[in-house]
Amino acid sequence: MAQQTLILIKPDGLVKSLTGNILTRLSESKLEIIAAKMARVSKELAEKHYCHLKDKPFYNELIKYIMGELHDRKKVLAMVYWGDDAIGKVRELAGETNPEEANPVSIRGQYGRITTKGLYENVIHASTNEEEAQREIKLWFEPDEVIVELYQTKISEVKNIKKKVWA
Ligand code: GDP
Repeated sequence: MAQQTLILIKPDGLVKSLTGNILTRLSESKLEIIAAKMARVSKELAEKHYCHLKDKPFYNELIKYIMGELHDRKKVLAMVYWGDDAIGKVRELAGETNPEEANPVSIRGQYGRITTKGLYENVIHASTNEEEAQREIKLWFEPDEVIVELYQTKISEVKNIKKKVWA
């Protein structure tokens, strides 16, 4: 069954110049990339993305981590991968959340680490199920940024909104 999944290359992945390596590993999935952009992560976006973890002791560090405040890279590479069993295939390639427990040949096993301060630097995010994928893709991307019509859309007329355009 065709599925879609959100993948983020987190700031530690970017700062370690791992983008190419991670994309190569992900290409083993034979899935299609149907959206991709560099994104600045506001506090609001970070908090919405990780809303299910707000009671965890590591939550505040996690928000700083995904915003890039711990790595001097205030951005992430956000992508949507699409195809048969996309969620399971990408989670398998990504490996366990804890990089020390992840299969050593998985992306997190190969490139992740736990810092001496206890931060799980696990280089990528990947959606865990279809509900989360839908919530996350809608949070990170506008409908027009995704080249496959994944979810229902509607036309909304927005007046008097100031927007930056090319000069
Ligand atoms: P994921 O879906 O595998 O990313 O796992 P979760 O949604 O449970 O957690 C989100 C992110 O929070 C993980 O990717 C880690 O960066 C971080 N995280 C999760 N569990 C822990 C933990 O026990 N300790 C620390 N320090 N960070 C964690």
